[in-house]
Amino acid sequence: MRILLVEDDKILAEALSRALVQSAYAVDVVETGEDADNALAMEIHDLAILDIGLPGLSGLDVLRRLRARKSHVPVLILTALDALGDRVRGLDLGADDYMSKPFELPELEARVRALLRRGSANPTPFLHHGRLSLDTVGRRVFYDKTPIELSARELAVLELLMMREGRVVSKEHMVNHLYGWGDEVGANAIEVYVYRIRKKLEPLGCEIRTVRGMGYLMERGDAAG
Ligand code: CA
Repeated sequence: MRILLVEDDKILAEALSRALVQSAYAVDVVETGEDADNALAMEIHDLAILDIGLPGLSGLDVLRRLRARKSHVPVLILTALDALGDRVRGLDLGADDYMSKPFELPELEARVRALLRRGSANPTPFLHHGRLSLDTVGRRVFYDKTPIELSARELAVLELLMMREGRVVSKEHMVNHLYGWGDEVGANAIEVYVYRIRKKLEPLGCEIRTVRGMGYLMERGDAAG
C-alpha cells in the first residue's frame, strides 16, 4: 500500500512517515499543494494524508481538484485543532476522514487502516485465500492456525495478490504500490519476492500463477490445499 503524505511541517512529516514506513506502507512525502496535486494526478497512491494549511495551493484546493478529476482515492485531512470550518469544508469536498492536530500516532494509523479497508471493499482486517489468511493489521500470515514466516516485503506482495484475488496483478502495479520515490527498485525485485513466497506456499497447495506478459494471479475459490 502506498500513501502520499502532504505536510509542510518537516518534523511532523518525518515522524508520520517513519511510523507509516514501520507499518510496512510505502510513503511519499511532499510539502506543497502543487506537488501534492501533481503526485495525486499520477494515480499511484492508495491513500492521501493531506494537511489543510499548506503554502500556496491549500489542502482544500488539492482536495477539490482531486475530486473534480473523479478520483476516489481515500483522503484523510489534517487540520488545526480549532479549525472547525476547515473540517466541515474538507468533508463536504470529499475528504473521507480527518484528524485534528495534535493527534496520537496510533489513532492516525488506525484511521489509515480503516480507510484502506473501505477502499478495498473488505470490511475486516483479514484477507482469505482458501485456508490461507493474512492479518493486515498484525502483519502476519497463517495457514489454518499455523503462522507462516514471511518478510515484510514478501507479505506486502502477497497482500496485493490476495486483495485482488481472481484478477491479474501486474508487476508495474506492485512496484507502484510497494515502493516510494526514494526507494531503489531492482528490475526483477518483484520476481524475486514472488519466487520466495512460492517456495513457502506451494508445499501448502497455494498457487501464484504467472500470466505471461501481464503479471501474477491467485485464482478465486482456489481450494488452496
Ligand atoms: Ca501546515
